[in-house]
Amino acid sequence: MSEIESGDLKGIASTTIKKLRRVGLVTLESIAFTPPREITKLTGMGSKTAIKVNRLARKKIDPGFTPADQILEQRNSLKRCRTGASVLNNILGGGVETGVITELIGEFGSGKTQICYTLSVLAPLPEEKRGLDGKVCVIDTEGTFLPERIKQIAENRNLDSNNALENVLIARAYNSSHQLNIIQKLPKIIRKNKAKMVIVDCMISHFRSEFIGRGSLADRQQKISSTLGNLLRIAGAFNVAVVLTNQVQAQPSVMFGDPNRPTGGHVMAHSCNHRIYLRKGRKNTRLVQVIDSPYLPEEKVRIAITKAGVTDSDGSFPI
Ligand code: ADP
Ligand code: MG
Repeated sequence: MSEIESGDLKGIASTTIKKLRRVGLVTLESIAFTPPREITKLTGMGSKTAIKVNRLARKKIDPGFTPADQILEQRNSLKRCRTGASVLNNILGGGVETGVITELIGEFGSGKTQICYTLSVLAPLPEEKRGLDGKVCVIDTEGTFLPERIKQIAENRNLDSNNALENVLIARAYNSSHQLNIIQKLPKIIRKNKAKMVIVDCMISHFRSEFIGRGSLADRQQKISSTLGNLLRIAGAFNVAVVLTNQVQAQPSVMFGDPNRPTGGHVMAHSCNHRIYLRKGRKNTRLVQVIDSPYLPEEKVRIAITKAGVTDSDGSFPI
């Protein structure tokens, strides 16, 4: 994927290209796959212009068949960030992938935020230490993301805690529209700070508390969808890893097995490329499983939550 330059889209003014770039529509692919209505909403440009840039971008990228070896080569440019627990890295094929959305699902206290903390300490590390060599942007919707814990994890992994703290940028989102607003500003922030990971903890909570009752369900799903659409584009356009957390909700109709289901419905299920389900285990351990993945094994592994963040179940953290 290459970034667009003025002149790439025939007859489109460079100011229009600038408007697109400002909101993260920096590749032909991202413009082609964003509906014109959404382009208008994001950039403020007229709908005729939006339709035109979308059409030109689609024409240019030629969505024909591509040999699998070329696709494989493109996929190899994706990077992975280790998570802090080697067993979890293993089931993720090495770690959390850039360019896509990874969703952490689990009930209260299952360790979602602890994985986010650990990732935010490890992602800024250089690639030879299996980090992503860039800053981390955290959107905290619950007010639970505290610098003290970042410091503790860094110290317990023998990392420079001042460095660790400098590399994590935290924005508190007070409601769902504020959350969307922050996400729309991400392209600028990512570019300016060379960020390589975006964390939204928790993706759904504001939507759940603001849109109550069946009557508002369609509206809620539409807003979640639009927020996720933005995040997907950002993941692809900047090749950043996007990590979201999501809660579970008990389904009273389930008679056998686990009655808990991830919230956010189909919109969430379809937008997230990798879904990781966390359950409480003995003592400080947690059971982790990849669910609904097109190619990762759905094997269950056990991790622990310690002073060093998430680790293997015995508290060790080999690289
Ligand atoms: P959630 O899934 O709700 O985000 P958390 O990720 O906050 O849950 O996990 C909470 C768990 O992490 C608690 O059981 C707590 O005991 C454990 N925990 C939190 N901080 C520490 C720490 N500094 N050292 C060890 N365990 C911790
Ligand atoms: Mg949490």
